[in-house]
Amino acid sequence: MNRERKEISLTDLKQNFEEVEKGLSNREALEEANRCLYCYDAPCIKACPTEIDIPSFIKKISSGNLKGSAKTIMQSNPVGASCARVCPTEELCEGACVLNYSTKPIMIGNLQRYATDWAIHNEQILFQEGEKNGKRVAIIGSGPAGLSAARELARLGYEVTIFEAEEKAGGLNTYGIVSFRLPQNVTYWEVDQVKKLNVEIKTNTRVGTDVSVEALLRTYDSIILAAGMAQVPKLNIEGEEATGVYDAINFVKETKSTEIPTNLIGKKVAVIGAGNTAIDAATCSVRLGAANVKIIYRRTLKEMTAYDFEFEFAKQDGVEFSWLTAPKRIISDETGKVIGLECIKMELSEKGEDGRRHPVEIKGSEYVMEVDAVIRAIGQSRHNQLLEKLEVEHQAGVVILANGSQQTSNPKVFACGDVIFGKGQGEAMVVSAAQQGKLAAYELHQNLGSEAVETA
Ligand code: SF4
Repeated sequence: MNRERKEISLTDLKQNFEEVEKGLSNREALEEANRCLYCYDAPCIKACPTEIDIPSFIKKISSGNLKGSAKTIMQSNPVGASCARVCPTEELCEGACVLNYSTKPIMIGNLQRYATDWAIHNEQILFQEGEKNGKRVAIIGSGPAGLSAARELARLGYEVTIFEAEEKAGGLNTYGIVSFRLPQNVTYWEVDQVKKLNVEIKTNTRVGTDVSVEALLRTYDSIILAAGMAQVPKLNIEGEEATGVYDAINFVKETKSTEIPTNLIGKKVAVIGAGNTAIDAATCSVRLGAANVKIIYRRTLKEMTAYDFEFEFAKQDGVEFSWLTAPKRIISDETGKVIGLECIKMELSEKGEDGRRHPVEIKGSEYVMEVDAVIRAIGQSRHNQLLEKLEVEHQAGVVILANGSQQTSNPKVFACGDVIFGKGQGEAMVVSAAQQGKLAAYELHQNLGSEAVETA
């Protein structure tokens, strides 16, 4: 992808960040809904981590009951409008659709988007708070897991306060997923659904800095920890302090803020890592006018953790991939600006005791890639200090839970979302975080002496 980019204005760049996928038209939605067989014991429901009653919401679309349809979706998944856009549906509900065996699966994600878009456009408020039970819960983090827990607790009658370190609520959905896949108005509507239940969201409030952990433990009956993950760790290679080296999370966050940076026009960009965030950083770079974008990964396509549809999306955007390649050194000019990246070729070892093949450097294979910017996207660090203060047992920042439970080693604290993801525990999907948030809320409710909540 070596494109000529002569004149790119700020307006062009802003347009580049508009949503890529167009929603279904009324006619398309109706035709698609009418293809559904409304299966008994539908496999698509079982394949959804939040167990949305898919045939029911599709049936409501076909009968013109769009509010009812949106309510069915959001009842099971408090961030169901976002998930309609970001879920790997081909691996989940659509992958399980019986029509895979005859024609093609129902476009469940698109229908889910159609119904929830209607609710957003018509400013619908779908749920009401429950009668107050006199108990108070603090939630740390307002991402998918925190919002989901808050929504369910408010409906059960709790006084809920969310503490959010960022300026706006929504966590990953607001700041971490590129706007051409998930526009912010979708997330804000989901946040609003929770606020309308009288949940207080204290933004710009970091627990441990702006409010003490001790105060939270003292003031609230229980705490839900849904703080997500922190920054991208350093590459720990020479030259990393040069101008033009970015953290992928901050980079994507900047593109979702008011002013779009313009400094990638005509530039060559290397993105280090091959997860979904790396793809987001790469496709954002393309939209910011970069002339060439390469993803550098020390393993192969087989080990890449990004979803298949993300990989396809990046390829369509012209992103190139350098497999079995690792960065060794960032080279800068006399002014401190990045001008190159020294890389080394890798090969995979035989399987080790852990059953994995590990990347090993091929001596003498070093070469220099000419680049103007390097974006780190090699995972995210953890909130270890916060976990220590909460006296929650963890392993390298991953919260350890009681078996089959969302409760931590501190009985007053429950955890959900990315704080529990890792070491074979939990999943990093938005939809899984939403489900964990619900389960944490129900378990907390029972732990405080109430009847168990019926789940689907
Ligand atoms: Fe409809 Fe497919 Fe689900 Fe059956 S499996 S209810 S056809 S979406």
